Amino acid sequence: MSKRDYYEVLGLERGASDSEIKRAYRNLARKYHPDINSAPDAEATFKEVSEAYDVLSDPQRRAGYDRFGHAGMGGQGFGGGGGFDGFGFGGGGLGDIFEAFFGGARDPFQGQRAGGRSRAERGADLRMDLKISFRDAIFGADREVELQHLAVCESCNGEGKEAGTEMVSCPTCRGSGQIQQHQRTAFGTFTHVTTCPKCNGQGRYPEKPCQTCKGQGRVNKKKTLKVPIPPGADTGVRLCLNGQGDAGGRGGPPGDLYLVLHVEPDPEGIFERRDHDIYTEVSIGYAQAALGDKIDVPTLEGSTRFEIPAGTQPGTVFKLKNKGVPYLNAAATRGDLYFKINVAVPTDVNQEQRQLLQSLYELERGDGSSQTASQGFSFTEGGGLAEEATTASSASKKKGGFFDILKETWKSHHHGKDK
Ligand SMILES: [Zn+2]
Ligand SMILES: [Zn+2]
Repeated sequence: MSKRDYYEVLGLERGASDSEIKRAYRNLARKYHPDINSAPDAEATFKEVSEAYDVLSDPQRRAGYDRFGHAGMGGQGFGGGGGFDGFGFGGGGLGDIFEAFFGGARDPFQGQRAGGRSRAERGADLRMDLKISFRDAIFGADREVELQHLAVCESCNGEGKEAGTEMVSCPTCRGSGQIQQHQRTAFGTFTHVTTCPKCNGQGRYPEKPCQTCKGQGRVNKKKTLKVPIPPGADTGVRLCLNGQGDAGGRGGPPGDLYLVLHVEPDPEGIFERRDHDIYTEVSIGYAQAALGDKIDVPTLEGSTRFEIPAGTQPGTVFKLKNKGVPYLNAAATRGDLYFKINVAVPTDVNQEQRQLLQSLYELERGDGSSQTASQGFSFTEGGGLAEEATTASSASKKKGGFFDILKETWKSHHHGKDK
């Protein structure tokens, strides 16, 4: 469902160099090339690796990916609809946002810095990765996020000039916002037009630039945001915080902040999440498996009783409906919880258990009698139970008798160990 992070696909850190990217790609491509690797998922992995390399090896596309993740690559939707208290991660929503931001430019990263001269500059969008815990992702939580961004300069209110002074025509570009450079070649003279770096294409520059921000109207600042993580969040989900990116230049609107979520696995290792479903395992004794029993099953909200039928086989999977992960934007709908039964074979048994097991063994072999079973063992310890066991084994055709004792013995042994 969620697309893997390109860096993760190549096994690289975010700041990886071009040569590291190339090397990682070569190694993986060699390993997963469908001509070489016949594993069923090799081709898919190869495609994934190639796609990651295509993007990360292209500086412009990589820059876009670093800022917006897969959302910046076009295509990849967000899934689900509706808003989340000022957050937009609705289906198709991001496409619309990009359109609005970039005037429908095909490649949003072309930007339009060299815009008209009087145009206020919109602040940059920021992208940040956010690790969230297994449980916070499932049930939602408020998280504090700290980030560096360009904030409106408080000394000049973002105007870039000292109070009481004026904006004048930019001395560098003489008010045009552009700089022309002429280059003479054998084929004639070429003219390059670039945006004026002094006024950022505005054409106007403060007569007396603000001391605090050096005329930029913005300063680098750390800020802390409280971010509500919606229930059902998953790795790859992006939260858009409108207006929380860089402040705009000279009164322009701020950019947005995109938070890309990365969900950590269950720290206790009890649960495994696959989209909306939760998987876990429960160990029971073989007497419980044979006879059926009410067992405790761990769920995300504490353990619950579940009755397994007699004759439950190892590896049987049971389902608890609606005990899984809430759907993003529809928290009332939840996935399911699946648990697999493991039948634990004891590694050490006490004397009573040994006697009972011996009796069971002989019974199953068909040549046992309570008499012979008893002979091989000493009854000095736990005599009462041994007596019961003898009774049970002689009356073993009676439904459950023998097994019930075995089960009870087993349970008390286990409980004793827990203390
Ligand atoms: Zn200028
Ligand atoms: Zn200032």
